[in-house]
Order: sequence, then C-alpha cells, then structure tokens
Amino acid sequence: MGVKIALAGNPNSGKTTLFNALTGSNQFVGNWPGVTVEKKEGRLRGRGDVSVIDLPGIYSLSPYSLEEVIARNYLLEEKPDVIINLIDGTNLERNLFLTTQLLETGIPVTAAVNMIDEVEKSGDAIDLAKLETALGCPAAAISALKGDGVSRMVDKALAAAERGLERNGAVTFSRPIEEGVAALSAALAKQAPPGGVEEGRRRFYALKLLERDEKAAAKITVPGAEGIVKKAEEECGGDLESRVAEERYRFISSLVSACYKRRKRDAETLSDRIDRVVTNRVLALPIFGVVIFLIYFISVTTLGTWVTDWTNDGLFGEGFSLFGLEVPGVPVVIGGLLEAAGTAPWLSGLVLDGIIAGVGAVIGFVPQMLVLFLLLAVLESSGYMARIAFILDRIFRRFGLSGKSFIPMLVGTGCGVPGVMASRAIENEADRRLTVMTTTFMPCGAKLPVIAMISGAVFGGAWWVAPSAYFIGVASVIMSGIILKKTPPFRGDVSPFVMELPPYRIPGAVNVLRAMWERGWSFIKKAGSIILISAAAIWFLSSFGFTQEGFGMVEDMNDGLLAGLGSAIALVFAPLGFGTWDAAVATITGLIAKENVVGTMGVLYGFAEVGEEGEEMWEAFASHFTVLSAYCFLLFNLYCPPCFAAIGAIRREMNNPRWTLFAAGYQLAWGYTLALIVYQLGGFFGGGGFNAGTAAGIAALGLLAWLLFRRPRGTPALPPGEPAASAG
Ligand code: GDP
Repeated sequence: MGVKIALAGNPNSGKTTLFNALTGSNQFVGNWPGVTVEKKEGRLRGRGDVSVIDLPGIYSLSPYSLEEVIARNYLLEEKPDVIINLIDGTNLERNLFLTTQLLETGIPVTAAVNMIDEVEKSGDAIDLAKLETALGCPAAAISALKGDGVSRMVDKALAAAERGLERNGAVTFSRPIEEGVAALSAALAKQAPPGGVEEGRRRFYALKLLERDEKAAAKITVPGAEGIVKKAEEECGGDLESRVAEERYRFISSLVSACYKRRKRDAETLSDRIDRVVTNRVLALPIFGVVIFLIYFISVTTLGTWVTDWTNDGLFGEGFSLFGLEVPGVPVVIGGLLEAAGTAPWLSGLVLDGIIAGVGAVIGFVPQMLVLFLLLAVLESSGYMARIAFILDRIFRRFGLSGKSFIPMLVGTGCGVPGVMASRAIENEADRRLTVMTTTFMPCGAKLPVIAMISGAVFGGAWWVAPSAYFIGVASVIMSGIILKKTPPFRGDVSPFVMELPPYRIPGAVNVLRAMWERGWSFIKKAGSIILISAAAIWFLSSFGFTQEGFGMVEDMNDGLLAGLGSAIALVFAPLGFGTWDAAVATITGLIAKENVVGTMGVLYGFAEVGEEGEEMWEAFASHFTVLSAYCFLLFNLYCPPCFAAIGAIRREMNNPRWTLFAAGYQLAWGYTLALIVYQLGGFFGGGGFNAGTAAGIAALGLLAWLLFRRPRGTPALPPGEPAASAG
C-alpha cells in the first residue's frame, strides 16, 4: 500500500501552490462526494506510490463550515498516513490554531512553515527547533512559490509517516478540561470497536465531546459523558468551547513569542514606510475613511452603476444593442414566448410580473456587488485590511471594545453569516456576545442592492449615500459597544489583541478574481432560489384577493391580500416615515433575505414594465417616498435585525434562546430608534412643525445620549484613552 499525504492549512496559506509543486501534472480534480467543493488528488512527482490529497482551506476543525466538515471527516475516516500542515509563516498566530487541532487527530503531522522567503525578506526569523519541541512534531521552513525546502519537507513528512504517531496533542489544557479528557478517553477505551475509538483519536473526540460538538456526539456515545462534561463545565464556569479556544490561543501566543524572532530593523522596508503613513496616529483614520469612501463610491455610484443600468434597462428591460445588433431583453423574449404559447394570463403574470420582475430587480445589482467584492478582495490581499483592524483597535480600545471585533465586521461586509461565525476568535465571552450582536450592522453584500436602489432612485446617485451606509454601520457598532459595555453582562476587560501585520503584497489577479466570483456566485444562486420563491409569493399575494365575485385576481394591487396584511403592519412604521403597506411588506420580506427589499419593490412597482418607459420602477419607487422617508427606510432596513440566515448564525453562536432574543430585540430597537430620530427631527428641522412625533424623536435622542454618556454604576469613570482594563 502506498503512502497517503493530506495537505491541510488555512485558506491562502499556499496550499494550491504547494500541491502543484508536489504533484506537477499528476493531478485529478473532482468533487468531494455529494457537494460542489473541489477535491484535488495527485501523485508525488517521481514517487508513484505516494498520493497527495489537497484538503479544503480551513481555519479550524469545528464542524461549522462545509469545508471544515469535509476536511475533518476525511482526516478521521480516511486516516491518511501523515498530514502536511501548511502554515503561513508571516501569520503564525492565526495559522497555528488549526495546527493545535490537527495534532490531536492521532495522525502524524509535519508542520510546513511556508512563505519563509517573505519572513526572511522582512529580516525576521523563525526558530524551527523551538517550534518542533513545542508542537512535538517535525517542522520545515519552505517557500512553496520558489520551491525552497520542499523536498526536505517531503522527506520529513515521509519519515514521520513511517514512524507513526509520536505525541498526541501539543496543548495541555487547564486541570478541569484535562480531567474531563482523561475520563472520557478512559470511557472510550472501554468500548470495543466498531463503537470504540482507537487510541490516537480519543483525545480529539474527548475534547469535541467536552465542547458539545453535535457532530461528534452523534457519532459516538459514551456512557456517563454528560456527567463528565457537566462537571468540567461547572468547574470552568460555563461553556467549554470558548474556554478550549482561549487556552489554545494562550498556548499559541507564548509559542509565537518564543519562536518568532523579530530582527531589529536596520533598514526600513517599503512596508514599514507605507505603514508609517497609513497607521500614523493622525492620518490613519482619514486614510481609512477615504479608502472606504472610494470603495463604496466606485462600486455603487460610478463603475457599478452603468453596468447595473445596462442590466436593468437592457438585459431585464427592453433590450440592448450589441455591435449594432438589437438584442431583445429577457421580459420581451419571455413575454413573446408566453404569448405565442397561449399561456393563461395568471401564468404570464407570475412569470413576468412576479419572477422576472423580482429576480431581475435583484440580479440587476449583481455587477455592483461584484465590483464591491473585487475591491474588498484587493484590500484584503494587499494587506491593508489587517491595518484597518490595527487602526480600529486603537479606537475600539478607548471604548472598551476589542479590535478583534473588527475581523468579524470585516467578514460581515461580505455576508453576515460567516461574519457572526468569525466572532469565535474572540476568547472573552462578553466581548464575543457583543460582537455577535453588532456584526450585522455592517452593510453586507445583500444590503448593497437596497443601498444602490435608494441611492439611485431617490437621491439621483448622490455620492454620499452609499458610503454613509458603511460609516453609520461602524458607528452603530461602536455606539452599541459603548452602551452595552455599561451593562453588567458585558462589563469586563478587553480581550488582548495581538496581531502581526503582514507585509504589503501586490494582490494576485487570479486570487482576487476568484474571491470576487465565489462571493458573487453565491448571491446569484440565492437570486435563483430564495429570491425567486419570495418574488413568486409576493406576486401571488399582491395579485390575488377577495373581490365581489369571490377569491381571484384583483385589478388593483391595493385590493390584494398583501395590501391587507401589509397595512396592518404599516402602522408600526408610520413614525419612521414609511407607513405604507408596500414599504412594510418589503421590510418584512427583507428578513428572509435583504435583497428581497429590492425584489419586492420590483414586483410591486412593475419592474417588468420598465422596458417601455425607461426607469419606471425607480420613478414609481421614488414617488412613494420623500428624500427623508427614503433615507429612514434605508436606515431601518440596514440596521434592524439581519436576514434569517444571519439570525440563525447568531442563535448558533449565542447557543441560548434568551441571548438570541435579546440580540434580535436590541437590533430591532436600534434600527427603529435611529430611523425615528432622523425622520422626526429631520422633519422638524425641515420646517414640518412640532408635533407628538417630534417629541418622541427628541425623547429617543435623549435616551440614546443618556445611554451613551451615563456612568456605569459602581465602576470608576475611566480617564479617556485608557484601556478599560480597570473596569468591571
Ligand atoms: P491557497 O488558498 O492555500 O491554495 O493558497 P495559494 O496557493 O493560492 O497561495 C496564496 C498566495 O500566496 C498566492 O498569491 C501565492 O502566489 C502566494 N504564495 C504561496 N506560497 C508562497 C511562498 O512560499 N512565498 C510567497 N512569497 N508567496 C507565496
């Protein structure tokens, strides 16, 4: 039997590069069974008896993402002979988290510290001998890109495979956890296979059972496990999953400070020089502001807009001309087909006014999303994103928030679901909950169509609308942090935030395009599923109702079922300026997916007819709002609870129904208060006169100010600028 090597590592650690270097053209690309995640296998160059398998890029072995589940199942079930764990040497802290888990799988590991060329270029060094001792496994420094050290690494890995498992696990956890592991391992040892777990994997499973990992619990049953887990939980004072993660990070922290030798820089590198400006105390914030402004300005207002206009007016409108050839738009073609086939009016209505109108309205904004994702990917791979975290940490710290909260927020600008999940990196439970509650205030990709629609339809594409959505999002996070940190459950020290700034890199075109496409594609898929079904439902509910002849299609949507349902809810939104049934319905459907706000408007305002009169839907939309009410509609929809998928993620992360309710309730209150203040005070200062609403607006503003500036009872006031270490 040949040797099986599994490549495991974080995304972007260089796995693809190494895999190509190891296997050359001896590759077979397929899919993992049952899913669309790519599976790559190959034979080691010059060693036909050694096979190499490239596992999906992952940050941990928790069963939260598909990639993690695939990698974990492969390791536990297929039992490769050795794992080559690729570690980005310029980012040890983050990469070693996975390493500590791989070392517990009972499979020999070889740590391959990649990008050593960059580490050396910056004048730093990594003490491999110390790393080997601490991890208890062979380590090699390589540059996958240049091929340096790769063959030595392969030799080490093959030798490790031959020797078999030498040490299981690198981290020694605190006493209650280790006692739990010992008790569970002993119980596992008593079970005979196939129910039992072989020795090497017992530590892995014992830890997962302690973490209450559902997938592990479903796979193996240990008599008395509940008692053991409960005991450890009681001794540790709560949930063990975050406790275990915290202890891993503590181990990694001391490991990195022992192994990573930062050489005193004699010559300043280019990265250092850029950083002197970019992270400068005075300039950092304005630069950050300008960068974010440009990103939203370019993607929503300029570049993205003409593509979107083309999609809306051409592709999903009357048609467009291509090299002088007149191509009809989708509704025209489908409308013609339906007519030719003699379809029943309700079916044409469903297809044209429901599905095409709703889905088309959302798809129209995909180009803007792609531009946004592209620019975000460039920021990320260039290394600037890491600087933003560093800069915001300084600000967040003033308010007792951890800069670590920024990473989830950053991920959240793509999609709130992974954003919320990224909060796991925060060890401190209170900070983690706070981050889970506030991450979705960031405008995610799905909110972009809403922003773009309102900015285009009501504000004539004003330059400030889209960037304001981002900055109000950041402000919402900070203000919520200040408010919540003053309440007992959130009080306490700030999690330590140690971050190595990677050197700046010129982003690779392929990587950036791939990141853009992966995110964009998932939105297109969503448009073809959730949005499509929602649009059909909205069409049905708005076009059918009870008439004098009984139940049937109505002439006027105001007589439809939806108008009735929406009107009941609309009252609630009247103080925010959009108390119409259509706006209320759009807001509610936005809870299913935020794009639905646009999709619903598309159906209700007859998007499919746009083709005849140009931008009719936008005009119809604009005619239902004033500038002020449209902005408040935007405010509420952006900063109220997120979509169901993200609320689901919040529920999983909170792992407690009361906390989940509290989070959703807080978000609802936040969105409502913001929109109320702006609408009521905006109306008053716009010359609307003083009324009960104005009083409510002033009261809300007063309450907000009090929550922000009150002194937490029983705690000394902090001098400004001091970290909140003395609070709590
Ligand atoms: P994956 O996501 O783990 O598959 O990572 P890739 O193989 O796509 O690599 C991510 C980026 O790092 C690419 O731009 C690579 O060219 C670059 N890269 C990979 N290995 C090295 C290395 O050893 N040194 C340097 N400087 N760059 C590397």
